[in-house]
Amino acid sequence: MATIAEPVLSFTRLPHPAPVADEVREGILAAPGFGTQFTDHMVVIEWTEGKGWHDATIGPRGPIPLDPAASVLHYAQEIFEGLKAYKHADGSIALFRPQANAQRFNASATRLAMPELPEDVFVEAVRQLVLADQSWIPGQEGASLYLRPFMIATEPFLGVRSAKQYKFIVIASPAGNYFKSGAPAVSIWVSEYTRAAPGGTGAAKCGGNYAASLVPTAEAFARGHDQVLFLDAAEHKWVEELGGMNLFFAFEDGSLLTPPLSGTILPGITRASLIELAREEGLTIREERYSIDQWREDAASGKLLETFACGTAAVVTPVGRVASPDGTSFTIGSGGPGQTTAKLKDRLVAIQRGQMADTHGWVMKIA
Ligand SMILES: *Cc1c(COP(=O)(O)O)cnc(C)c1O
Repeated sequence: MATIAEPVLSFTRLPHPAPVADEVREGILAAPGFGTQFTDHMVVIEWTEGKGWHDATIGPRGPIPLDPAASVLHYAQEIFEGLKAYKHADGSIALFRPQANAQRFNASATRLAMPELPEDVFVEAVRQLVLADQSWIPGQEGASLYLRPFMIATEPFLGVRSAKQYKFIVIASPAGNYFKSGAPAVSIWVSEYTRAAPGGTGAAKCGGNYAASLVPTAEAFARGHDQVLFLDAAEHKWVEELGGMNLFFAFEDGSLLTPPLSGTILPGITRASLIELAREEGLTIREERYSIDQWREDAASGKLLETFACGTAAVVTPVGRVASPDGTSFTIGSGGPGQTTAKLKDRLVAIQRGQMADTHGWVMKIA
């Protein structure tokens, strides 16, 4: 497929008057948590109708000027991505499949009637930020620099149509464990709410999906669970995914099931990577619908050995227990981590961290 090469934008470096002091940063990096601490810099690129992408800068992280009529504030034209930069033992810095994030970003943009960003510009923006903030990448096991590229509609206009001005921004946040509890397995709450319906935006990574998931998530937390599970919108029967993670089920016959990408599930890059790794491990992959009733039955009979959730932020996390609003609950396996989950997680993490050969071309070294 021939495409016209877009000229890669050049980034203007804006001086930083006051980066965080070394000893403060070191303190943050020792226990980064998730999503509460931010690095010194950010990337901003503007888009204007008729002009395209322009004015790429990398400068001090800070508030962004926004007109109160900016359409993102009214009609939620917003999309985002999430990926991580890792520090390898040899001192190099690596991204994991950033091109896949760039592609998915554009798929989300198309669904939200937003302009596409050339994939090379997306990757270059992320690379520039990581290089500028490389002292912010925690080195300890399980930690990384979480990168959050996103796009918002900035045009001041209250009519309902797609906007004519946008900002693409990348920020970064040192990250440790996603789940505060540090428990070996998470407990999930089956929601009566719906995350995504056929024809909706379930396959797009947009803020609006998350806004709709906050009440069910709060319900799950209030009942002592770690995450919320969404079933399909039409029959309220088929398992789809968690609020921000895809699901896998490992059976005693050596098969591994994950719900198919039907348009209502977010196509996770972790999901796609684990499917490949599992095939190489000799597991039979089944991208098939799975009902909540079958899940309960298979857990009880012992046919189902393990369930795990996966995503960039939470990596691979075992699901130990499932509770429903009808008062029933069930445990999967021993309720703790299982062998298949551990093996797949170890392989994925080893590739991401440069401890195992990257035979797939997933790791992009940037320094
Ligand atoms: C981002 C996301 C995932 C996981 O995708 P990864 O590419 O693996 O990080 C799963 N579900 C939802 C709803 C998401 O937003």
